[in-house]
Amino acid sequence: MNNFELYNPTKLVFGEGQIAKLKDLVPQNARVIMVYGGGSIFKNGIYDQVKAALEGFSVTEFGGIEANPHYETLMKAVEVIRNEQLDFILAVGGGSVIDGAKFISAAVKFAGDPKEILHKRMSIRDNAIPFGAVLTIPATGSEMNSGSVVTIAATQEKLAFGGPAMFPVFSICDPKVIISLPKRQLQNGVIDAFTHVMEQYLTYPIDALLQDRFSESILQTLVEIGPKVVEQPENYTLASNFMWCCTMALNGLIQKGVPTDWATHMIGHELTALYGIDHARTLAIIAPNLYKVLFSAKKDKLAQYGRRVWNITGNDTDAIAREAILKTEAFFAEMGMPGNLSSQTPDYANTANIIVQRFETRGWAKLGENGIVTPDKVKEIVELSY
Ligand code: NAP
Ligand code: FE
Repeated sequence: MNNFELYNPTKLVFGEGQIAKLKDLVPQNARVIMVYGGGSIFKNGIYDQVKAALEGFSVTEFGGIEANPHYETLMKAVEVIRNEQLDFILAVGGGSVIDGAKFISAAVKFAGDPKEILHKRMSIRDNAIPFGAVLTIPATGSEMNSGSVVTIAATQEKLAFGGPAMFPVFSICDPKVIISLPKRQLQNGVIDAFTHVMEQYLTYPIDALLQDRFSESILQTLVEIGPKVVEQPENYTLASNFMWCCTMALNGLIQKGVPTDWATHMIGHELTALYGIDHARTLAIIAPNLYKVLFSAKKDKLAQYGRRVWNITGNDTDAIAREAILKTEAFFAEMGMPGNLSSQTPDYANTANIIVQRFETRGWAKLGENGIVTPDKVKEIVELSY
């Protein structure tokens, strides 16, 4: 097992009716900016719950943070904070709004051009203003991690950053919020969380036995409840287990002591930046093809995954590993995910070359665990996904 440090300061407040606790979680006397997305919170009652809990607080509202949040929009919130001297950000939304709040938090006091935070993939350690979250869609784990992904619309770049100052101070996770989610977003949440686990689990060497069991238990739970929760989001047992899986999939715990991959996410981000495809759908398009192209490096772990998550039996490691990929593709299809890129955009034909060129410009020559995802592999993976 690799050496590791475990640090997660986010106070997670989980369960029905917990949004009312905002009045104790937001610092008294804070000058709050409440940031939110395209307006779903006005239709499903979450806005009303937040406002009721924050009665008596000074709150400036900033809406319009889009899915795959834009740098350009977030910088407008930075201006509001600077002009009105606000000192606490409350994100009410999903991964996009929470990731957006992280960028705003880092950019407000940043000395240089805030674009550098993204282009240099900076680690933000201090000088950030504190923020908390009310989660409205389970998927990303952003409510309990220190990562963020922001799109620069002008250049069609989708870039990640993070750092120890980028953990929310608190996050409220009320599973009841999923009732108003469109089926597509429920499906996306299950698959984003599933892929987060795979990015941290499907790596080698295989020597972190407890982390493997943690990961397998999250994968099994998502397989068990995923198809049901998209049909019955009002079922609290399904909703609460779904929400907790998503947080646990990416709050740092399962990645301790293990090499992580993340190449599926890196390639997927390009597909969103280029064609606007939903984040989870890009992952479903890329992941199985990455497993195929990296089969020889990953087959032992794929076989363990096949045996333990999909209950595939037998002694032939290669055959079990191959069947595990087929099971994964079938699960993604059952969850409404597209199977290839050409179904999502007519402009797919040159995508592999564009992505390889972008990665080379950024110096990303060795992605994946142990640097095994080289430009030729990226090209193969993307071409296989057409
Ligand atoms: P999202 O982009 O935050 O939201 C997707 C859509 O769901 C929006 O249109 C939103 O509408 C709607 N919505 C949210 N809550 C709703 C509710 N309760 N009822 C009805 N509609 C609701 O989705 P996400 O999947 O959570 O976030 C995706 C982003 O996170 C991507 O940019 C991805 O790259 C990033 N990401 C981050 C991490 C991380 O660790 N930080 C990990 C993976 C992915 P409104 O805008 O109107 O609210
Ligand atoms: Fe993700």
